[in-house]
Amino acid sequence: MSSNQEIVARDLSVLWHPCTQMKDHEHLPLIPIRRGDGVWLEDFDGNRYIDAVSSWWVNILGHGNPRINRAVHEQLDKLEHVILAGFTHEPVVALSEQLVAMTPPGLDRVFYADNGSSGIEVALKMSFHYWQNMGHTRKQRFVTLGNSYHGETLAALAVGDVALYKSTYKPLLMDVFTAPSPDCYHRAEGESWEAYCRRQFVEMKKILAEHHEEICAVIVEPLVQCAGNMRMYHPVYLKLLREACDKYGVHLIADEIAVGFGRTGTLFACEQAGITPDFLALSKALTGGYLPLCAVLTRNEIYQAFYDDYNTMRAFLHSHSFTGNPLACAAALATLEIFETDNLIERNRELAAHMSRALERFNDHPHVAEVRQTGMIAAVEMVKDKRTREPYDWQERRGLRVYQHALKHQALLRPLGNVTYFMPPYVITPEQIDHLADVAWEGINLATKD
Ligand SMILES: *Cc1c(COP(=O)(O)O)cnc(C)c1O
Repeated sequence: MSSNQEIVARDLSVLWHPCTQMKDHEHLPLIPIRRGDGVWLEDFDGNRYIDAVSSWWVNILGHGNPRINRAVHEQLDKLEHVILAGFTHEPVVALSEQLVAMTPPGLDRVFYADNGSSGIEVALKMSFHYWQNMGHTRKQRFVTLGNSYHGETLAALAVGDVALYKSTYKPLLMDVFTAPSPDCYHRAEGESWEAYCRRQFVEMKKILAEHHEEICAVIVEPLVQCAGNMRMYHPVYLKLLREACDKYGVHLIADEIAVGFGRTGTLFACEQAGITPDFLALSKALTGGYLPLCAVLTRNEIYQAFYDDYNTMRAFLHSHSFTGNPLACAAALATLEIFETDNLIERNRELAAHMSRALERFNDHPHVAEVRQTGMIAAVEMVKDKRTREPYDWQERRGLRVYQHALKHQALLRPLGNVTYFMPPYVITPEQIDHLADVAWEGINLATKD
């Protein structure tokens, strides 16, 4: 049987890994996984790790989930894939029916892409194209939030605002309006999340008031800017934004690729603001983290603006080879069924409360500026100076020390810069949460001791 070392040697001679400076692997171990079971990942040497980041936020029901496995196996014996133009299949129909039924009211049409970034491209193009079809040809621009992230293909990158991923490619990207983030980390001392979000909204409102005639849509990540260091905000911002978008005739695109499917405490984050966006992008957890799939939901009124005789050239001619893949749809259907039968939203409430208690002690840590949580996402932000919140120099890579410590103690805790976060599969136990908190505590102590 192979060992870690053998697989890693073969890997490093042929692969180029995502989001990685490959030279790091001269001293950082690359970890080959041979098996997954629930929250556990096991490497080729038999070491085990609790997957505290849900394998990049996708896996919500555990690895090797028997019910999803069965659904994919059964689908595999019937149909692995078929073109979705001119043809259709039962899993994609059933999934679309269910998504329409479970998402906020008014989202009645589903278009598919095969990953999150592509789904964002779909929403942006559809919004622009809608306004073109409606004769509003001056509407050609988008508004995004500071610190936002919407994926890494060029248009998705353009509407994002994380410098680490974006700045190199700036010359290639379309120009967007960027409104200040409602990220409550920056609220004044004693100021509530709600008050801060209302204050931050003023600038957004100004952009919309001044430029709405050239704006197609505003795109946001509801409640949590995950890739932007798990920064969080109050639902009131979404409510105000919905009102302003309606007032000024601008679409609202909700990117729930990371936060959809129970992550924030409700099935969808938009529910906490009581709003329906014009476009809703869902991916990641949609298939339980099994297979790539993205659903972009929109309103019938938008769909109707494309519906006409062929010769009018109003159709949305966007496509991806694996659009609506049946295996991915089968995994998604099984995932949605588990949501229902296992009462996950209810169960998550208890897990989230446990997570909150387990992380309480970090508030008093001399190098922790903030512990924040929204549902099943919790984050601990390390700083050099607790009082002024002066951050550690990014080049010191202190988060990496937490990561390395955690790997030695059965935990995959992959920080974002100096932010250690917990975004585990919903099948985690309270005891496992306690273990993660202990490991993070030791890791942060080590990472901040000099
Ligand atoms: C991950 C993510 C994306 C991009 O999805 P990919 O499948 O990685 O292309 C877009 N938006 C948000 C909010 C995400 O977290």
